[in-house]
Amino acid sequence: MTGIGRFAQVIVDIAHADVDRVFTYAIPEGMALQVGMRVLVPFGHQRKEGYVLGLTGESELPPEKIRPVESALEDYPAILPPLVALAREMSASAHCPLAETLRLMIPAQMRGGRVNIKSEKTAQLIVSGEEIARARDRQTRSPKRRLLIDLMADGEEHPLRELQLLVRSPLEPLRALEAEGVCRLHDREVLRSPYPDEPGRVPDPVLTADQRETLDELLPALRSRAGAFLLHGVTGSGKTEVYIRAVREALRLGRGAIVLVPEIVLTPQMVQWFRGRFQDEAAVLHSRLSAGERFDEWRRIRLGTARVVIGARSAVFAPVKDLGLIIVDEEHEATYVSDRVPAYDAREVAASRAAREGAVLLLASATPSVLSFAKARRGDYTLLEMPLRVNGMPLPEVKVVDMREELRLGNKGMFSQALKEGLEECLAAGEQAILFINRRGYAQSVVCRKCGHALGCPSCDVSLTYHAADGQMHCHYCGRTSPLPGRCPECGSAYLKPVGAGTQRVEEEFKKLFPGVPLVRVDNDTTTLKDAHRDLINRFRSGAARVMIGTQMIAKGLDFPRVTLVGAVLADSSLNLPDFRSAERSFQLLTQVAGRAGRADRPGHVIIQTYKPDHYAIAAAAGQDYRRFFNTEFERRRRDLYPPFTLMARLLCQAADEETARRVSGALLNRVEKLLNDNPALKKRVLFYREDEAPIKRIMGRSRSQVLLKLLVHRESDLVVAALQQMTKEDWPCEVALEINPASLA
Ligand code: ADP
Ligand code: ZN
Ligand code: ZN
Repeated sequence: MTGIGRFAQVIVDIAHADVDRVFTYAIPEGMALQVGMRVLVPFGHQRKEGYVLGLTGESELPPEKIRPVESALEDYPAILPPLVALAREMSASAHCPLAETLRLMIPAQMRGGRVNIKSEKTAQLIVSGEEIARARDRQTRSPKRRLLIDLMADGEEHPLRELQLLVRSPLEPLRALEAEGVCRLHDREVLRSPYPDEPGRVPDPVLTADQRETLDELLPALRSRAGAFLLHGVTGSGKTEVYIRAVREALRLGRGAIVLVPEIVLTPQMVQWFRGRFQDEAAVLHSRLSAGERFDEWRRIRLGTARVVIGARSAVFAPVKDLGLIIVDEEHEATYVSDRVPAYDAREVAASRAAREGAVLLLASATPSVLSFAKARRGDYTLLEMPLRVNGMPLPEVKVVDMREELRLGNKGMFSQALKEGLEECLAAGEQAILFINRRGYAQSVVCRKCGHALGCPSCDVSLTYHAADGQMHCHYCGRTSPLPGRCPECGSAYLKPVGAGTQRVEEEFKKLFPGVPLVRVDNDTTTLKDAHRDLINRFRSGAARVMIGTQMIAKGLDFPRVTLVGAVLADSSLNLPDFRSAERSFQLLTQVAGRAGRADRPGHVIIQTYKPDHYAIAAAAGQDYRRFFNTEFERRRRDLYPPFTLMARLLCQAADEETARRVSGALLNRVEKLLNDNPALKKRVLFYREDEAPIKRIMGRSRSQVLLKLLVHRESDLVVAALQQMTKEDWPCEVALEINPASLA
């Protein structure tokens, strides 16, 4: 499909409100442009990259004002038309320039010509039949050329890499043959592969009744090209197999599919499963690919060789043509929200994209987010349920241990009597265990036992964390490290001691209790290297390690058949966070961790250690009772006015000095006040607004202050959000950003 227009409407790739409109360029004779293609255009005295958003036959501008497009950057549209539409919609709702949302649709390194396309030389005869023999006979003085002609006699293209194995330095003689008109040399693109090994072929298992019933709803929806579903399937119910069958149906219908997973950590296993069934039709997109690998995967998708995409959040923008299905696995995960500009929620983008492109949306989780489940109850999504585990295995038995009681009995360690005994039994039986703690590092903070002073980072207003591995204190916000001081900077006493619990402390205490038992520790500190995570997981999977100690990284998605004991060492650590979602997060985390136990043919045990055994999130997680949790939580949100009943907006000001930050937040408060006074109808819906320093006053040397606003959700809420967004665009002497229901109010 080639455009008919003589003029191209181009968005120039500059993310600034002043140039956020289309510019008209003339299309030179012989240049074939299509909507979605990237072009180079003159802009002022510069050359800029741009996106063709429209083609027209006429322009109202005088011809001398119209400059020509310089060149097309690719010979295909990098952005498919429905994704152009999606970018438009996102830029309107996020109030940001279109150039900025269009950038989401292509690999970052494509901009500015930073892609390096890997290529290799190939050679091919261009003579045939009798001529081959004649060409060969002419090479009287070069046995090398004769040999090369023989090797290429099949008329196929041969990589030089291969010819080199048989003929030393073949390039010179091949060039000579090319000059003679006997063969031709090509530069062929090679796609880099991020997969370490060839996919095996995995046979289909027989579906369980739950899987069958779920698919009986999904498959007809795929055929009729519409439907949005929320699948609530307990851990181990076999959701992945449902995804695979639904994807296969989409492919059979000639359409593509996107499978979103929350974190790269989950991807190796999912990728393995999908590659086992779909081989090279499956592509993977995530942030840990090298720039080249990512670009090549993107192109395999764009050019249609890969029709199934597995990836993290941003894969929702993958250039899949004829999209038939979008799956969001573990849909409750916070990683689906991007707070970088332009901010978006991949679940909402998926819903919008699915509706626009006639695709089916499937959100799935063992612990659906409160928002999604509420939507399903309201009828926005069709609720599908898989309440039983594959093989009919029962859900693991969960025991809640009251750590206050342990202390009363004189046990000051991190392992309760029950957990110690559980570990002994598990290890004696030759089985595996997972210990989970929602914190990394050795200890939460370094505290003076005499005056109580907690050592903090000088440039961020947070406590430092002591890491035993390097004997240093780390700031988890800015990454700065410093040695443990000999004396307290406040009172000079020598009694400085790390307190609290982290993965490293669990590791050390475990080693004392169970010396010589091989273990792996999985957290952000041990998995910064590219393949470190996979290596650790493999050591555990193979049985070489008997125990895995980790943070929430290990809580979800991984499937280890030999694990029969899971211990949540301190369940409270996520419950005490200053966030209205902390109960939801804790419930999800504990339920997911518990789901790691007893997934094969052996029953599982879970031990949750806590100081708050009666908290409803812990009790519901112990009973693995989603409905009970949802009902309590939803009532609490209604009663205490939290989302989805209300909306929290924050204008965050960050400046080099505290005075400027406070001055700007003060001015913003006045603006908000005026906005509300001018709109009494809006004001009635506002529960409170206030100006304050942020809970964390300084991060990376920048002072932070805020205006917080809470309002009841109603038809006009969007107006307030739009007005606040507008305020951030004004000329302030410091950075001002708007956050809606921010994931953390740090
Ligand atoms: P979930 O994502 O719902 O927690 P998984 O998809 O990880 O569950 O499946 C749990 C385990 O059950 C996996 O090892 C998977 O290979 C296996 N499984 C899934 N469906 C079947 C089936 N129909 N027959 C046999 N095994 C299955
Ligand atoms: Zn002190
Ligand atoms: Zn810091």
